[in-house]
Amino acid sequence: APMIGVLALQGAFESHQQRLTELGALSRQVRTPRDLAGVDALVMPGGESTTMSRLLLSSELFDPLAQRIADGMPVFGTCAGMILLATEVLDGRPDQRSFGAIDITVQRNGYGRQLDSFETDLTVSVLGPGAAPFHGVFIRAPKVTRLGDDVEVLAEHDGVPVLLRQGAVYVASFHPELAGDHRLHAAFLNSFQHESFSERHDAQTENT
Ligand code: GLN
Repeated sequence: APMIGVLALQGAFESHQQRLTELGALSRQVRTPRDLAGVDALVMPGGESTTMSRLLLSSELFDPLAQRIADGMPVFGTCAGMILLATEVLDGRPDQRSFGAIDITVQRNGYGRQLDSFETDLTVSVLGPGAAPFHGVFIRAPKVTRLGDDVEVLAEHDGVPVLLRQGAVYVASFHPELAGDHRLHAAFLNSFQHESFSERHDAQTENT
């Protein structure tokens, strides 16, 4: 079974790992290049992208992670994780780095002060036709202001993309780990392996 890494330098990594564990996935926290070498896919959590950028450099994770992403490792970046994966970051710190793994421009804290945090139900295409909406928790979320031709929009809110994919790279401007809903983590896992985690989870739920 694949080992799923959760970048654990800062931010909301524990709830991500909980969601993965609930799905029956193997996961491990990633803080060093050695940790990274042992994982097959990576979740990059929300938090503070400026701090994470700094810690990625001081931990010497930035370059090996850039290489793994370039080699096609599946990654799922949420909120600050989305910022770190974007091609272009608006309102970032001058020394803030990003991986340029998905061809989007994001504006940090782009929903404005009055909407620091909000929650809304999202219709997510990859959950299948007729699937229940996914509850999106947005916390000082980045706003997508441009997307490249190769980027697929999987959900939007008020006409703005909030869940996107390019190749093996998935990003969400909200916090899918905080909704008590495994379906997006399951969709990420299912995107690169055959066993269906959502079915396994449904089976467990039925048995309890
Ligand atoms: N505003 C944060 C940043 O710019 C992201 C917020 C979050 O991850 N919840 O890094």
